[in-house]
Amino acid sequence: MKRRTFLGHAGALASMPLVMPYLSRAFPAAAPMRVNGARLNEWLTNFDRIGRTPTGINRVAYSEADLAGRVFTQQLLRDAGLTPRIDTAGNIYARLEGTDRTLAPILIGSHIDSVTDGGNFDGPVGSFGAIEVARTLRETNTRLRHPVDVVIWQNEEGGTTGSKTAIGEMNDVELAKVARSGKTIRDGIGIIGGDVSRLAESVKKQGDFACYIELHIEQGGLLEKAGKQIGVVQGIVGLRWFEVTIVGFANHAGATPMDQRQDAMLAAAKFTVAVNDAVRAEPGRQVATVGRMVVSPNTTNVIPGQVVMTVDLRDLDQSKIEHFTEVFERVAREIGAATKTTFTFKRLTDSRPAISDPQVMSWIESSATALGLSSQRMPSGAGHDAQEIAHIAPMAMIFIPSVGGISHSPKEFSRAADITNGADVLLNAVMAADASLKGRA
Ligand SMILES: [Zn+2]
Repeated sequence: MKRRTFLGHAGALASMPLVMPYLSRAFPAAAPMRVNGARLNEWLTNFDRIGRTPTGINRVAYSEADLAGRVFTQQLLRDAGLTPRIDTAGNIYARLEGTDRTLAPILIGSHIDSVTDGGNFDGPVGSFGAIEVARTLRETNTRLRHPVDVVIWQNEEGGTTGSKTAIGEMNDVELAKVARSGKTIRDGIGIIGGDVSRLAESVKKQGDFACYIELHIEQGGLLEKAGKQIGVVQGIVGLRWFEVTIVGFANHAGATPMDQRQDAMLAAAKFTVAVNDAVRAEPGRQVATVGRMVVSPNTTNVIPGQVVMTVDLRDLDQSKIEHFTEVFERVAREIGAATKTTFTFKRLTDSRPAISDPQVMSWIESSATALGLSSQRMPSGAGHDAQEIAHIAPMAMIFIPSVGGISHSPKEFSRAADITNGADVLLNAVMAADASLKGRA
């Protein structure tokens, strides 16, 4: 049955002039390599036991489960024939040597820490995918010119601590922050084998890596909705957080006529709708969210005198972030005039978009095509270590679908076949990078 099917298929191909499957059959050297997907998915299944609690995966940075996860991951690296090394920031690196020692390494990896009550796929998919890529290259005696460095960044979920340190952006304020495990980042770095007094030794500069490619789950529902297997990440969106304070006048809810009020809550409600309308009125993937509102005096029979609210604005294009900032400030002035309230804007956070390198994106895209996988370009709305590394190396990310677009939840799930696809694309993208990059001058 199998043989007949095969013969029938081959016959059909032979009768088709110059179709792609026929060509790749005729030139097997051009056929894409593949990882051992069963092995990769088995690692993920075994890893699911570490930090698993009734409410989800709890492998928060510097916790016992995080430490156990790091032990597990270092063993995977050893099993792959690599030697794990912990840098002074607590990141785990392991190198697969290349044939040309003058070339900077191609960097691949992700993180293994989780949020509180998270899932098993955000981070581990890219970390283990990178280990599997290195292991496949080694097992098949595929010698690349460039070394391949696998990296497991520490504390991604608590503020990309490991990758921030790698680009020299760690400081005393960050180090003093208390992570989800209850430990400060300063103490945490010591716990996982780093050395806070020698962080400078872990700082990398432009040229230290030939490029960085990170495989990750999408954490949204775009790929699933589009029916695409691979996301080629164009960049990680920039983010601006505002705190908006609206001041009106707190007065009696019964005795004050409707036309004589200075209702801060009414102004806040109008502004919330206006922010949504403004962002939706223009084409593009920009998003804005009013996520928090503190109302004073927050009492049933008093007209609200003050509201403090937040706006979260994100886009891949910095000029759009500037544009919508102006739009929000303008509509705030209009609403303020109409409601006899005043709006004051304060910026809480500003992070610029991290744009992917077009060449690295093209290697990912062509690898997906060679593997027969559908792909689409898309921004990442979530933050990643890649946004930090983009400052010192050309980077791009590979996304695979998240079922239902769910992440940072125990319901987070990616299918085994999609995980294998992602690692296959990573493998071939690394090979394409090795073949194309000229290395340091
Ligand atoms: Zn992640």
